[in-house]
Amino acid sequence: PLVLGIETSCDETGIGIVRGRTLLSNTIASSMDEHARYGGVVPEVAARAHLEALEPAIHAALAESGVALSDIDAVAVTSGPGLAGALMVGVGAAKALAVSLGKPLYAVNHLVGHIAADILDSNAPPLEYPTVALLVSGGHTSLLLVRDLTSDVELLGETMDDAAGEAFDKVARLLGLPYPGGPQIDRVAASGDPDAIAFPRGLSRASDMAGHRYDFSFSGLKTAVARWVEQRAARQEQEPDVDWSLPVADVAASFREAVVDVLVTKALAACRDYDVPRLLLGGGVIANRRLRDVALERGAAAGVTVRIPPLSLCTDNGAMIAALASELIMSGRPASTLEFGADSTLPVTEIQVAESA
Ligand code: ATP
Ligand code: MG
Ligand code: FE
Repeated sequence: PLVLGIETSCDETGIGIVRGRTLLSNTIASSMDEHARYGGVVPEVAARAHLEALEPAIHAALAESGVALSDIDAVAVTSGPGLAGALMVGVGAAKALAVSLGKPLYAVNHLVGHIAADILDSNAPPLEYPTVALLVSGGHTSLLLVRDLTSDVELLGETMDDAAGEAFDKVARLLGLPYPGGPQIDRVAASGDPDAIAFPRGLSRASDMAGHRYDFSFSGLKTAVARWVEQRAARQEQEPDVDWSLPVADVAASFREAVVDVLVTKALAACRDYDVPRLLLGGGVIANRRLRDVALERGAAAGVTVRIPPLSLCTDNGAMIAALASELIMSGRPASTLEFGADSTLPVTEIQVAESA
């Protein structure tokens, strides 16, 4: 099927067009620049930016893929989770488009969409089930057991506080680096020593892990970095003649190592426990060079095949939403009714919403 997908859960207006499992176009307009001076995404600003960006993005995606709007077989949209106002703009647009074209509408889960991005990777062999999936983004850090993308996604664990991307953004701010912090930390950490400072690995000791084997916690790590930075400044005040300036590269590298270590250790533990030799990575934090390297290295050592989709498909985009709907259609699932809205807290287990009876 030829599917047009609309993604507006955060600050990216994504329009993607896929045919079956083939990616035809993936247009992304981001309002990131407008949020940068606030140090985070401002919901109202994001919603208005989606409203302005949607129509040109749809036209750009159609032009890029060389298909006409009338050729589309189905429309897909993210109904949640995400920012309520931002989601609402996409949901409204998708309903209007589907109704005016007289085509079926598939309302899908953003997080499962991140996993579906994998099937558009033309260089990878087909996805095998079951697979463990680690989803790391600005808003989520989830460990999933995927038995079937269209019908069976189990949540093994998630973050108890900050998402991994959020931790990167907050620590970057502590280090005086601009927003979004993930890429900045990655850049600065390249010249740092990952073993310089022993930052804590949240929920990793046997005693804290009771009932939280696959859960994550990054707020303690963020606090530890903050305290380290403060102590350094205090020391400088006490000893003005000594250079106690912040070794930003070492702090960034050590922080990054702590995050990566926990993510990879827990993901591979799930692979071992469930006897699943496959791990799929998704979400914007996968852009992190160290995370990719460590996952591939330790995965290989553990006999686990690690799949990493191309970066353009890891960050928020419309193609992954279209891909998920395309899978649903190919497995014979009925469209969604129009009786759905934006659900900012949609659980990952709800792959499609408002499925018609
Ligand atoms: P969600 O998908 O949960 O709704 P989101 O839209 O914020 O959240 P993405 O767009 O998938 O998530 O990812 C953005 C996050 O990824 C930001 O927190 C950003 O700092 C982080 N990030 C981007 N590049 C890197 C990198 N190289 N290293 C670490 N983090 C990164
Ligand atoms: Mg984003
Ligand atoms: Fe996302």
